[in-house]
Amino acid sequence: MLSALASHGQLAPYNQEHTWLMEELTHSFTYQAAPLPPNDFVDNTDDTWLKWTTVSNYHFGKDRGDLTMIADLSALHPYFRDQIIQLIKTCKAKGITLAVVESFRTSSKQNEYKSMGEKYTRSKGGRSKHQYGLAIDLVPIVDSVAQWHNKALWKRVGIVGEQLGLRWGGRWRHLYDPGHFEWTGGLSMTQLANGEQPSFPNANKYPCLEEDLNLLKKYWNAWENEQATISRKEATTATQLQ
Ligand SMILES: [Zn+2]
Repeated sequence: MLSALASHGQLAPYNQEHTWLMEELTHSFTYQAAPLPPNDFVDNTDDTWLKWTTVSNYHFGKDRGDLTMIADLSALHPYFRDQIIQLIKTCKAKGITLAVVESFRTSSKQNEYKSMGEKYTRSKGGRSKHQYGLAIDLVPIVDSVAQWHNKALWKRVGIVGEQLGLRWGGRWRHLYDPGHFEWTGGLSMTQLANGEQPSFPNANKYPCLEEDLNLLKKYWNAWENEQATISRKEATTATQLQ
């Protein structure tokens, strides 16, 4: 290292400083996984959850807050996921391209939306189907632009979703939410919160359902932990600034 720097003659000290600065900068971007809770995790080498597709704020032209949005279909309940894949495919066949804005959502993210006001959500953390992998937000894309205000297009998407047995947020009078689809197999929010699992047709097509759900819960917890840590950090910084 020293000899390489020495060969640059006069510029060596600058080069070295530059290298340090670059290293420091690179480190500041390096992903730091949050410490894992002691009991929920036996295998902490499984970082599948970190590889889930995510979406950053304003990616689809809208303010969706600071915490990262998880947009991976793997983050959904297996049965609901298959219905959503079908929805995306059917729309594609009709010439409508759908993008995933958000699938699973942590309580921290939900609370962030809650803090952003009524037009985002009326549910606090734990009270949204997104936290159970049973809801998704989608948006149709035309010429690379998200079609948030194209009511006619939303309606076409919504009808396909309803034909698949999904509940469509485009029917809601308060907080019209046309990008939102959910399914609970008839379970109430309280039942979901109590850990009840929805039943669905052709359950025999999902022989590994229980293992899949356990794994999903592990990954969801990892995200919960990760985003709770970020929220706490932000809250501390905000307090310090006051
Ligand atoms: Zn939603």
